[in-house]
Amino acid sequence: MPNVPMSCPDITDVEISAVNQVLQTPSLSIGPQIVAFEKAVASFVGSRHAIGINSGTSGLHLAVIAAGVQENDLVITTPFSFIASANVVLYERAIPIFVDVDPKTGNIDPVLVAECANDLSQGDSAAKKWLPPSIRNQKSEIRNLKCLLPVHAYGQPADMDPILAVARQHNLSVIEDACEAIGAEYKGCKAGTFSDAAVFAFYPNKQVTTGEGGMIVTNRDDWDVLFRSLRNQGRDVFDGWLNHTRLGYNYRLDEMSAALGLAQIQRIDELLAKRAQVAQWYNERLANQELVQVPYIAPNTTCMSWFVYVVRIKPPAQREQVRGHLEAQGIPSRPYFTPIHLQPFYRERFGYQPGDFPVTEYLGDVSLALPFSGVMTETQVDYVCECLLRSVRLAL
Ligand SMILES: *Cc1c(COP(=O)(O)O)cnc(C)c1O
Repeated sequence: MPNVPMSCPDITDVEISAVNQVLQTPSLSIGPQIVAFEKAVASFVGSRHAIGINSGTSGLHLAVIAAGVQENDLVITTPFSFIASANVVLYERAIPIFVDVDPKTGNIDPVLVAECANDLSQGDSAAKKWLPPSIRNQKSEIRNLKCLLPVHAYGQPADMDPILAVARQHNLSVIEDACEAIGAEYKGCKAGTFSDAAVFAFYPNKQVTTGEGGMIVTNRDDWDVLFRSLRNQGRDVFDGWLNHTRLGYNYRLDEMSAALGLAQIQRIDELLAKRAQVAQWYNERLANQELVQVPYIAPNTTCMSWFVYVVRIKPPAQREQVRGHLEAQGIPSRPYFTPIHLQPFYRERFGYQPGDFPVTEYLGDVSLALPFSGVMTETQVDYVCECLLRSVRLAL
């Protein structure tokens, strides 16, 4: 069996020829491809606006700016995510307030979100326990809770109804990190349609890829105009050349990437169906195993958009030993996620320690992402599963 890659984009001749055609035109940035790609994503998601940007991270950054998040403001988010979802809060000198996650789905726990928002709005003593350790006992500056930033982990939407109720009660903006969830549904509605702005990412391991790239979707006309300005060096849509109304960025998506994305989004049903098939092959082989637990999908609310296939290695089997055994058989695998609050610079800056978010840390210890993509074959899944089941027995 040749090496099985961790992930692999699903690229056909259609994508190759679309990118080639762009290269034969003079428009390599902000041309017809991005306009068409934005239209296609807006129509697929069912949002009024879509704004192409050069990564998921830059999209999240712009959404945080649009939400009015400023120095010392607070944003409630999850520590069980890819680091970008918390970093974008730091880019604006604001403070991510982590709350722990649901042990079944790994998504932010809405009950804790409600408690946290209540306590933070009451101020001082009640608020304290939610603040990062290193600033908990600082003389309190005025800190305003501005925004909720849930993440749809692994392609399963967060439990949005109670989260939106908290936002309404406290008058907060909501940003969905939908970077792993294009096409996913919660109670029949698509990820990306619940909030003031949502962001999709198109890195090569995502369901849809543009190489590097991303897309913000929003129903707000004011935010649409703001995003178009912010991604383009702060130039307003009515500004002339080299007239910059506000501080902006170069977060533009180039035309080759947009053409690739357009070709991909036109195949999205096929792309998602292939991934769902691979997930099902895994589920069939790994269900009801003593030492391996298959992903939990909330039965009444979730329609999954499979981004990764993450199992839990159950004690007494040791996840790191399993990884080693898989590696020796040519099979890559990854801990996913590694908790954000325990990343070195979060520990240093905010004083976090193991034990601060026990559910997140537990999931961080037992979760293992297996090789996964829409182009994986059933034979490859067979091989990975055989090796995995052998490996867990060796890792006791
Ligand atoms: C992929 C991803 C992002 C954005 O990643 P980029 O590499 O900047 O496109 C953000 N959040 C989550 C949860 C992701 O998985």
